[in-house]
Amino acid sequence: MNVAINTVAVIGSGTMGAGIAEVAAAAGQQVLLHDISADALSRAVAAMRQRLEDRVARGRLSADDAGRMLARIVPVADLAALAAADLVIEAAAENLEIKKTLFSRLGEICPPRTLLTSNTSSISVTAIAAGVKHPERVAGVHFFNPAPVMKLVEVVSGMATSAEVVEQLCQCVARWGKQPVRCQSTPGFIVNRVARPFYAEAWRALEEQVAPPEAIDAALREAGRFPMGPLALTDLIGQDVNFAVTCSVFNAFWQERRFLPSLLQQELVLAGRFGKKSGHGVYRWPQGAPEVALAAAADDACAAARVTQNRDVVTHAVWIELDEVVLAVTTGETAQAMSARLQRPVVLMDHSEGDLVAVAAAAGNRPGETQKAVRYLQQQGKRVLVVADYPGLLVWRTVAMLVNEALDALQKGVASEADINTAMRLGVNYPRGPLQWGEQLGWQRVLQLLENLQRHYGEERYRPCSLLRQRALLESSYES
Ligand code: NAD
Repeated sequence: MNVAINTVAVIGSGTMGAGIAEVAAAAGQQVLLHDISADALSRAVAAMRQRLEDRVARGRLSADDAGRMLARIVPVADLAALAAADLVIEAAAENLEIKKTLFSRLGEICPPRTLLTSNTSSISVTAIAAGVKHPERVAGVHFFNPAPVMKLVEVVSGMATSAEVVEQLCQCVARWGKQPVRCQSTPGFIVNRVARPFYAEAWRALEEQVAPPEAIDAALREAGRFPMGPLALTDLIGQDVNFAVTCSVFNAFWQERRFLPSLLQQELVLAGRFGKKSGHGVYRWPQGAPEVALAAAADDACAAARVTQNRDVVTHAVWIELDEVVLAVTTGETAQAMSARLQRPVVLMDHSEGDLVAVAAAAGNRPGETQKAVRYLQQQGKRVLVVADYPGLLVWRTVAMLVNEALDALQKGVASEADINTAMRLGVNYPRGPLQWGEQLGWQRVLQLLENLQRHYGEERYRPCSLLRQRALLESSYES
């Protein structure tokens, strides 16, 4: 079965359906757009016309091309008209019963060669396909919002989906100018699963009062190089929507502790503080995050210290001695724990790929001792953000958890290593794929950080996955 995909039917003309229809029309395909609500359908076509006219007015699209695109989109009131489609993309409500009813009708209406797909973000493709005639042609094509802009599409296989169908869908995605990644139908697919710790660790830092939200966001954005801080991002996505995705992944994984939803986020949702769309979430909108308070320039009175570099051959830790003060990159211990072990003042720093770095001091440090470390970092051109003594700090802990989640997905065959990296770079614009990051930071260091977090909290949440242990062992055997 190899179908030339010339006619695409889209079911549901809401946010996603309208965007997908535009993508297919822009690629020269004929589009049949169907919605259960005639009003929604005419509103979607009018909004699309308006968007295209705006692009013509801004010189981004010729009037002829806009006219041709619109002419290719045909609103259809009757589902039976979808018999003419080569590919159907369902983007109706996120409800299994609605989707099952639609797919079972599509199985009757459409010839066996028609590819039947769903844009679901959380429902099992296997469940949607069950009972449909020729389930091997049923798959997921998961677009990201806004569909005309975002480059990634997850092509999701259910248990019955054939390899040939996946291949045809990937070719079609490429024709739309987008990047396909292949994955299995597991909760959250790739992006919505692997991204969970990005939000979860920020909520936890806020709950443990490590720093104000703008400081947490600044660390992830300016030191971690993520395009946006996690808390500001949940305000943009909508606290209700982001919380619902977290709950759905948590429940779909039989309440796996790694995915535990945040009580603080639940409070925001219950209060109706949905974020940008309601004018108030973590932040007030349209203002957004306030300026972050950095450590003041350290006083020259704390004279230049004698600086020595040290390396521990066993743990790979690198630390700097500033007279009696130890300044080290976090390994998942608190500064206080390290200070008690070494019997010296300790300041820990976070992973940083920018000019901002978060640091935490042991509670027993005298102010001048912490200042020595701050001053040293400022002399190296860093802007220093002082946060509470928090194991693994902000960026390192988040990245380690992303790496762990990505490895777990890889080990369970959700997707290939390359596709997991691509999905996270293009689906949520991470600066690097999580598995590339793990490779670069070192699997042993990621493992050590998680083991220390697990020891500190005594929680399963930080349990390193088995593939991380294997990679860390391999890394150490190459080195020895
Ligand atoms: P939406 O509420 O904006 O639009 C849904 C549309 O489907 C509405 O116009 C509604 O009238 C129509 N509809 C409902 N039941 C129908 C039926 N039985 N037959 C035909 N039309 C029907 O929703 P959305 O945000 O566009 O989401 C659509 C799908 O895409 C969902 O499965 C959602 O999980 C998924 N998705 C959403 C996003 C997002 O960011 N919004 C991203 C990726 C995937």
